[in-house]
Amino acid sequence: MLRLPSSICRRALRGGTLTSGSTPEFWGRANPHGPCLPPTSAFHTHLNLHNSVPDLPDFNTSVDIHEHKLARPVKPTQSTTNAQLQKKKERVKLKMAKMDSLIPETLREMEKDEEFKITAQKLKEMGQAKLTREERKKKQRALDHLGIPSFRDFLKRFHHEETGEKCNSLLRKIEIEILQLNIGLHCNQACNHCHVESSPRRKEMMDRETAEKCMAILESSPSVHTLDLTGGAPELCSQFRYLASEGRRMGREVIDRCNLTALLEPGQEDTAEFLAKNGITVIASLPCYSAKNVNIQRGSQVFQRSMVALQTLNDLGYGHPDSGLEIHLVYNPLGAFLPPPQGPLEQKYKEELDEAFGIKFNNLYTITNIPVKRFTDFLVRRNELEGYMDMLVRNFNPAAVEGLMCRNTINVGWDGRIFDCDLNQQLDLQSRRPLNVQTDATSPHPIPSGGKGPSVWDISTAADVIDLGIVTDTHCFGCTAGSGSSCQGATVSL
Ligand code: SF4
Ligand code: SF4
Repeated sequence: MLRLPSSICRRALRGGTLTSGSTPEFWGRANPHGPCLPPTSAFHTHLNLHNSVPDLPDFNTSVDIHEHKLARPVKPTQSTTNAQLQKKKERVKLKMAKMDSLIPETLREMEKDEEFKITAQKLKEMGQAKLTREERKKKQRALDHLGIPSFRDFLKRFHHEETGEKCNSLLRKIEIEILQLNIGLHCNQACNHCHVESSPRRKEMMDRETAEKCMAILESSPSVHTLDLTGGAPELCSQFRYLASEGRRMGREVIDRCNLTALLEPGQEDTAEFLAKNGITVIASLPCYSAKNVNIQRGSQVFQRSMVALQTLNDLGYGHPDSGLEIHLVYNPLGAFLPPPQGPLEQKYKEELDEAFGIKFNNLYTITNIPVKRFTDFLVRRNELEGYMDMLVRNFNPAAVEGLMCRNTINVGWDGRIFDCDLNQQLDLQSRRPLNVQTDATSPHPIPSGGKGPSVWDISTAADVIDLGIVTDTHCFGCTAGSGSSCQGATVSL
């Protein structure tokens, strides 16, 4: 029988191992760590959404992330290891000129990589929709085996236990501040943790009519201060410059979620200047300051090209105080563990990148690997899915709930469908349909979902979705583990 959260065993929560055997008694199975302490720990005394910081069992990852190792079937090239680059001591100034496209190398790596081949074969046999359903079932089975309720029930029970009140508003849309558009799945990279399944082979892209409709919604939504453009590699999508310029014309902050290497692709020679000229904020993935770890996760040559792109952006003023041009980097763990604390890791990144390459940036965002798409495959093939889900639940942090990005964000897919977040988009979990709006009969587009969920043609302003319930599933435990996780990094400072 499922017990309520006051029976959480503090000792079990502090177990610190990643095995499913450490799952506390609350989740409905025998507790291997002996009797529970009385319900007085900081973890469950209050659901204080602002200040309460639990003593989290697995929030202990070292900030020496260059020492994190991950075995991989294909040995990475030794030609650009950080050790070799560090040996030079003097600052390396790399030149942007004469870079060939990364795409042939990415395709070559995809051909060699067993994991990509297995996924491609399954995709061919089952189709995307069936594969996604299968993925969701696998995670549910892992949680069922651990005796863990759904994310929504978990949150409701926790909230009720802590406050004596029903939880009616935590998982509803509040005022919308961010419009996030995933404008296409095409990418010059094929990273092994990609939650979007992007690669050079993906060709899906937002068309002009959908882009114009998105901008009409933005114009009529004064509460939305940020237009967040993501992908794939958004710069490689045909509507990128139109959307970015329109967003800036309307006075909104525009974010380009940039993989850095896209700026070096043939035909993109003036993209960095375009970004600077339009005052666009760059948020760029760089999962380590070591070449080896970056190349393992994102593909060979990616680290060196990323350094070139960062130096180019720095030369244009990005990352320098008073330039008004901001660049933030994103860290996500190499494997099945939680990110280290954001503040100390940011300091480490700043020292390492400045010393080796003279690179400056504004902030580092740490993001938890959410078990979606390639990262789920990664866990399944290593037999780590159940342990990972267990770790996410055991590190549930009530203080992270208020900052869930799905609460104040509308996420739109390349085809115009609306989701509560980019992760739900990849799992095909559409937002709830607003009751008070009618589909635009003059729309040149039919509802892409076949009427199951809303698209941009169903709303005229972001206010139309306020108070709608948020669609959740097992992957949501990734957003509330440790210091929380969102597209803007940790949601709680620990
Ligand atoms: S993680 Fe980003 S850069 Fe890597 S394949 Fe996916 S979209 Fe492209
Ligand atoms: S994955 Fe995270 S952001 Fe998305 S719906 Fe779940 S809790 Fe919200």
